[in-house]
Amino acid sequence: ENTQLKDIISHAKEYGFVYPSSEIYDGLQAVYDYGAYGVELKNNLKRLWWESMTRLNDNIVGIDAAIFMHPTTWKASGHVDSFNDPMIDNKDSKKRYRADVLIEDKAAELEKAGKEEEAKSLLATMGRLLEAEDLEGVRDLIVNENITCPVSGTANWTDVRQFNLMFATQVGSVAEDASTIYLRPETAQGIFVNFLNVQKTARMKVPFGIAQIGKAFRNEIVARQFIFRMREFEQMEMQYFVRPGTELDWYKAWADTRVKWHKALGIPEEKLRTHDHDKLAHYANAAMDIEFDFPFGFKEVEGIHSRTDFDLKSHQEFSKKKQQYFDPEVNQNYIPYVIETSIGADRLFLMTLCNAFTEEEQEGKKRTYLKLHPAIAPVKAAILPLTKKDGLPEKGREIFDKLKFDFNVVYEEAASIGKRYTRQDLIGTPFCVAVDHQTLEDNTVTIRHRDTTEQERVHIDELHGKLVSATSF
Ligand code: ATP
Repeated sequence: ENTQLKDIISHAKEYGFVYPSSEIYDGLQAVYDYGAYGVELKNNLKRLWWESMTRLNDNIVGIDAAIFMHPTTWKASGHVDSFNDPMIDNKDSKKRYRADVLIEDKAAELEKAGKEEEAKSLLATMGRLLEAEDLEGVRDLIVNENITCPVSGTANWTDVRQFNLMFATQVGSVAEDASTIYLRPETAQGIFVNFLNVQKTARMKVPFGIAQIGKAFRNEIVARQFIFRMREFEQMEMQYFVRPGTELDWYKAWADTRVKWHKALGIPEEKLRTHDHDKLAHYANAAMDIEFDFPFGFKEVEGIHSRTDFDLKSHQEFSKKKQQYFDPEVNQNYIPYVIETSIGADRLFLMTLCNAFTEEEQEGKKRTYLKLHPAIAPVKAAILPLTKKDGLPEKGREIFDKLKFDFNVVYEEAASIGKRYTRQDLIGTPFCVAVDHQTLEDNTVTIRHRDTTEQERVHIDELHGKLVSATSF
């Protein structure tokens, strides 16, 4: 792991953002817990996504489907048969890898060395082989490209085998009656099986969308890069149901909307790019990733997929229940086509954290702070009385009590004001409000801005309005 990622991981742990799961037992691989500031940041990201989907679009509504679903769901969706990743082992180190990720890493290496054409053609070859399920071909490609194991340094590889990523468990307490069910590997199917329920009860007309945030589980072969690839994670997905034939226009429109959303979050243009898929999933007729320049290179944050009518059609076939919509405008019954936007809340969190993590030299001293958009910062303002006496704490509490109903604010009186500023910088608090003796006289306070460390004097009554405008997205 590179040093910048290491710094971010230790910052996340030390300042209450992310801890390894069940850490006292040495953790559980690829599972993480969110701490006091992490949960605030993650909730803010989720709320922002939810509001951008369901409030800004009067034709998108939300649902919250269960994690467990009827097992036939996953037959129909294709996950039982083909939600696999190609796995390969190195015979010397006994380490297991995802064959496609090994090749992708090689391509990234080539790209870095300026061999962009070679990288592209390597990825295209891999895409073709995987699509044809030519696992032997994938192994040959790894050998011919002289891809070696990062641990043993050798190219002594086993065959490539498919590995299904779904976690299975049993429902029912009596062994004979128990049946295998799965932890959902994506939230989307909860939306598809509820398509008609929602369409009818919320009286939706095509085109319309259904949004959902919820946990998904994948038994990832290699879990690495912190919360980038987890075995338990959260997805935020929106399925947009459209008239057949119009799907590619909607696909482009949604890709555009989503890229703009990331920029509005404060992600600079040069750290974002889109990447069209070389290999299409079994359900798609177009797919792209929105990628972010992580410390370990450009990687997918969000997928935009044109899923055709694959899912609804398949559910109709398996359930024997019509999944059609009557479109009064064209006087026709049809199964709608679907454009999906799918983003992991945890991956979005990691992108946000990587983008915000800032180390600067100031007067020969290093200053570390999180440059988070105020709309997503865990704490919006810290109320800090200069001293613990002369009525300053009481005044500070009064300000705190006025703001706490509308904003996540904190009140702190311990330690020097400088130390308290630093602490807020480390968790990304955009504003520190210092209460001093003058405050008692004229009700003004000093606001210290996180990014510039500049200070301004404002009246207490202005604080609420300033926070409202700063934290709006
Ligand atoms: P990858 O190629 O990285 O395995 P994918 O193409 O399988 O990802 P999708 O099935 O399109 O991913 O999932 C949509 C989104 O869900 C991804 O863009 C990512 O943000 C998130 N996601 C998928 N798998 C994981 C995971 N194991 N941990 C965290 N987030 C994930």
